[in-house]
Formats: sequence, C-alpha cells, structure tokens
Amino acid sequence: MVVIQLPSQRAAPAEERRDWWLGAACRETDPELFFPVGAHGPGAIEIARAKAVCGACRVRRQCLRYALATQQAYGVWGGLTENERQLYARRAREPE
Ligand code: SF4
Repeated sequence: MVVIQLPSQRAAPAEERRDWWLGAACRETDPELFFPVGAHGPGAIEIARAKAVCGACRVRRQCLRYALATQQAYGVWGGLTENERQLYARRAREPE
C-alpha cells in the first residue's frame, strides 16, 4: 500500500511553502483514510469519509489547486479522488 503524507503532514519544499495547510481539516485525521486501497467496498467507504472531511475544510480550494499543480497521483485531495482530479484537469484544458 502506498501512503503519502497529506498536506498538513508533510514538509513542503521552499517553492511550495504556503501556510494554507495549517487550516486543513485533515490535520488530526488518519492519513490512510485519504489513500484508500480501492474505489469499491471498504475503499468506497473510506473515500466517502475522506470527502466528508474535505467538505468541511476551509482550505479545500487551496488543497485542490496544490494537488493539481503538483500532479498528486494518489488519494483524495480537495475533496476529489485521483480520477476526479484527472477529469477536472482535462475539462479545464478543453477549449470552450
Ligand atoms: S481539502 Fe481535504 S485533503 Fe485537502 S487539506 Fe482539506 S481536509 Fe485535507
């Protein structure tokens, strides 16, 4: 299993350093919740629980921007799974 630290739990390189994650709702949450083993069964329940935490997070937009900018490949960031972030990024690149 790959468990990557959440924004609130990692030391950012200087170019990424921002204070936004100090307001992260996941600071006191088990990081494994945000990196489920799959999208079905128990994984789906973890994703739903992670999204509920994100839904109450006051830095959700900053977190999503960070995840997109740094191309986070795994986990729930800013309330979106990796597949949802890929779709979000693809739609943002499409001409209107
Ligand atoms: S949006 Fe979710 S993953 Fe991002 S900082 Fe907030 S609680 Fe953590």
